[in-house]
Amino acid sequence: LVPRLRPFTATIFAEMTALAVKHGAVNLGQGFPDTDGPAGMLEAAKNSLFGGDNQYPPGPGRPELRAAIARHRLRYGTEYDPDTEVLVTAGATEAITAALIALTEAGDEVIVVEPYYDSYAAAVAMAGAQRRVIGLVETPDGHLELDLDALRDAITPRTRAVLLNSPHNPTGTVFSRAQLEAVAALCVEHDLIAVTDEVYEHLVFDDAVHLPLATLPGMRERTVSISSAGKTFNCTGWKIGWVCSTPELVAAVKAAKQFITFVSGGPLQPAVAYALDHELPWVEELRTSLQDKRDRLSAGLADAGFAVRPSSGTYFVTADVRPLGFTDAAELAWELPERVGVAAVPVKVFTDHPDEWKHLLRFAFCKRNEVIDEAVGRLRRLV
Ligand code: PMP
Ligand code: GLN
Repeated sequence: LVPRLRPFTATIFAEMTALAVKHGAVNLGQGFPDTDGPAGMLEAAKNSLFGGDNQYPPGPGRPELRAAIARHRLRYGTEYDPDTEVLVTAGATEAITAALIALTEAGDEVIVVEPYYDSYAAAVAMAGAQRRVIGLVETPDGHLELDLDALRDAITPRTRAVLLNSPHNPTGTVFSRAQLEAVAALCVEHDLIAVTDEVYEHLVFDDAVHLPLATLPGMRERTVSISSAGKTFNCTGWKIGWVCSTPELVAAVKAAKQFITFVSGGPLQPAVAYALDHELPWVEELRTSLQDKRDRLSAGLADAGFAVRPSSGTYFVTADVRPLGFTDAAELAWELPERVGVAAVPVKVFTDHPDEWKHLLRFAFCKRNEVIDEAVGRLRRLV
């Protein structure tokens, strides 16, 4: 393995899921739901599979899916031409990797916010670029926000792109309009490309609102907006993602993408098109049920002695292990499946500054209530 990929030999999700299986633990580590998506979407997939629709789809994706993605994006007030400004990818993961490969050269810098979704560091490395990491800082009310001073300081003449994820995995932070406006202003001032990972766009709670960076002044023409069906329609295994951007940026991402997977998920693409057009009421029910699950798990974790952090979106809540007498959440995460039968993910593995994040564990609440209750019951045995 070449040196630049040596830090990336195992993903925390595969490791923790393997440990959960080995010990029969309740898996609140890897974020995937344990119920299926809308029946109409599954029916549409079945019809494709049994309707002889099993060969390569067109390179940019099935036209009906690209049209549905463009229609869906209108909810934010941005128009995209389905023929030139939308590209279907093998999940958001491929979209992010292909975008970085297509848009950065060796030596270019990409600004990444820590804690960051694990594939980001690997994708920057595969592109041959360098990551410049900035952190989140705590507000007086205990929420996290972008460190805008650090962002400004991180920009150099080599900076090519900012990779931004909101709603944010692992912390559940949803960046405010004011914060996003500040990011947009810096991108415009320094002529940077923004790559936005919006896979949790529908999963926001309370009064949080998802605001795509591309909707802000000067950003439509410099933002590669990425999302996927996995989180919106409970189908993380389908790996249907997409990119919306300008014709030039979409063509660039496609140039890389076509030689990574070429195409994927052909028979599933019409089903995702159907879901985007018809199943948003189902998604609204998913959103409210996830909000209840966030509350249920947060209350349970607090009861078990954790200091639970606020989460305004995603599948995840983070919790401080120090009130329970532990100092390193990663050590605890490795013991937890065997000791009490629960799996969680240490936040520090998503950072370049493990000491600053070592007290936090990430728990997924995208599970049936009885699974959450069972996990909480087991975690009570920790004290
Ligand atoms: N980005 C974030 C922030 C994620 O949590 C995930 C995990 N699902 C992905 C990207 C990957 O999405 P996909 O499965 O569509 O590749
Ligand atoms: N996105 C999911 C998470 O953060 C897992 C994806 C994966 O296993 N690669 O838990």
